[in-house]
Amino acid sequence: MDGNVSQAGYMAQSYDVIVIGGGHAGSEAAAAAARLGAHTVLVTQKAATVGEMSCNPAIGGIGKGHIVREVDALGGIMGLAIDQAGIHYKMLNESKGAAVRGPRAQADRALYKQAIQRLLAGFPTLSIVEGSAEDILTDGNRAIGIRLASGEELLASSIVITTGTFLRGLTHMGEVQLPAGRVDEAPSVGLALSLEKLKLNLGRLKTGTPPRLDGRTIDWSKTEEQPGDETPRPFSYMVDRITVPQLSCYITHTSATTHQVIRDNIHRSPMYSGQIGSRGPRYCPSIEDKIVRFADKERHQIFLEPEGLNDHTVYPNGISTSLPLEVQEAIVRSIPGLEEAAILRPGYAVEYDFVDPRELNPTLEVKKLPGLFLAGQINGTTGYEEAAGQGLVAGFNAALKSQSRPPFILDRSEAYIGVMIDDLINQGATEPYRMFTSRSEYRLTMRADNADMRLTPKAIAIGAVCQEREKCFNRKSEGIVQLRQNLMSHQASPHELLTHGITMKQDGIRRNGLQLLASHLFDLDKLRSIWPDIATYSQDVEEQIQIEATYSGYLQRQQISIDEFKKDESLSIPSWLRYEEIGSLSKEMIEKLSTHSPVTIGHAMRIPGMTPAAVTAILAAIKKPSSKAA
Ligand code: FAD
Repeated sequence: MDGNVSQAGYMAQSYDVIVIGGGHAGSEAAAAAARLGAHTVLVTQKAATVGEMSCNPAIGGIGKGHIVREVDALGGIMGLAIDQAGIHYKMLNESKGAAVRGPRAQADRALYKQAIQRLLAGFPTLSIVEGSAEDILTDGNRAIGIRLASGEELLASSIVITTGTFLRGLTHMGEVQLPAGRVDEAPSVGLALSLEKLKLNLGRLKTGTPPRLDGRTIDWSKTEEQPGDETPRPFSYMVDRITVPQLSCYITHTSATTHQVIRDNIHRSPMYSGQIGSRGPRYCPSIEDKIVRFADKERHQIFLEPEGLNDHTVYPNGISTSLPLEVQEAIVRSIPGLEEAAILRPGYAVEYDFVDPRELNPTLEVKKLPGLFLAGQINGTTGYEEAAGQGLVAGFNAALKSQSRPPFILDRSEAYIGVMIDDLINQGATEPYRMFTSRSEYRLTMRADNADMRLTPKAIAIGAVCQEREKCFNRKSEGIVQLRQNLMSHQASPHELLTHGITMKQDGIRRNGLQLLASHLFDLDKLRSIWPDIATYSQDVEEQIQIEATYSGYLQRQQISIDEFKKDESLSIPSWLRYEEIGSLSKEMIEKLSTHSPVTIGHAMRIPGMTPAAVTAILAAIKKPSSKAA
């Protein structure tokens, strides 16, 4: 950090990286830049709200949990923070395959925020400045700094904007509308105007939150207890076990009366009265939306989630609403167990500007304005985890750019974060984007359990992890190699196995320990009963080997398809190719291809609405032996 003459003609503080916003994208971006040694400043409206969970106090879930593990594998802070604040851990889809299991934890809201603030305070090259960024300064070609509402200017090589729902935020509760980024927090109007001046394509989206309840007024006997996992499994690869006390969640349901109250008042919902025109998250709909869209459903599940160890606030997950307060009260009264429940804070919806993410390249830098990066809800996503994943990538790239180093890019075959960024920058966002495992073509290889094996080497390569993490990673990968070799060095025929009481098809084939592990007849303990010299390793090493063996056939096939993807992705589309001459291409596909003129197969794949069949047809046309050569 040093001084430089600002546009206003006085000495301004100068940094490598400025991060605007202290939410989930901003915290992760600032930490990522600081890990790379960049002098970084995080500018946020209120320092006390850094790490604030705007909506539900929970981290992870299906698809989202994968992102948290990836952020952690890359040295990020979200996993560490939740492991210092998690009060109810649950592995979702536990009974299903390893690829779709989703770690999730309910957080103590206050502990989570404290953990994020503590982790950020640990970076010597990172400072936090309270202030509202109003303008992006440019030299005509690139971003060079920001102006705060106070008039002060800060200069930097790279700037990351992570302002969440604040850009021209407008909250709605029934007929009442208030300009705000979150309830009781001022919207960011100047910055939205500044982005407009830079000719960025802005759109509008909305999200909502439920009323919060006083747990002391809930009749818990009418609800069903949902304990968390007996042994909570940490998010972070650096944490061995969770020491925070654990609480239960509870389940109740809407009733016929709830549905009637909502139907009777639907005209007062800003979404249905026309007051809100923008799209909300399809997979996190408001209760009024659920009643309208799923009219034949007799009841909807509501999770009653504690917000903290020393906090009576309860988050009723499933009844997000922007109906007027008196209707919210009637809804709550109609739900079993909540008849007497007091509302501590009403629910509301918020509409906000977002930037069309097609304005960005894979580093999350704005194509039109080098030096400016965007991450989080501002790019049309929803969720803390999606924000954190983008924040980390933008933070790395902002720092790398300031150090004139090559960019850091994750592709679709490496990480869910890569899938998300690829989807956003190519398809844009017509509704708030959230992660699901179904968005990935390579689910089996991109599991939540192996994020470190996939990504930590990349973070080590750019110097973005501490020595302790590097050592921990090396220990685990060495353990995996040793156990794999150990298992492969032991072999037995079905006949020999019979002497151990194991009946297999007598095909005479000798199989090694790894191959036997793929069969449901074996686990590591069973193999050790045959070969006692197979050493024991830590639980995470043994889990990796077991998953690898169980899915070996599928994993090999998926690896072939990943290799093909990498090859095809960069395959150039020759200029001689005439789309109209490819018989199987529909008129619509030909039009799309002619309009976008993709240069590579990768570009063609990402044209919105392009079907896999059309891409296969183009590939076949290029690869056909009789294809036009030169
Ligand atoms: P945020 O966490 O919102 O952080 C933005 C930060 O930028 C804040 O620190 C703010 O103070 C700061 N800031 C803004 N403008 C400026 C400025 N000009 N200068 C300096 N600092 C600035 N997600 C879900 O997945 N499901 C839901 O159901 C859901 N419901 C939500 C309901 C509500 C009412 C809200 C507000 C959010 C909801 N979310 C939901 C979204 C979730 O909170 C966000 O996805 C997540 O917080 C986005 O992280 P972010 O870092 O992009 O932004």
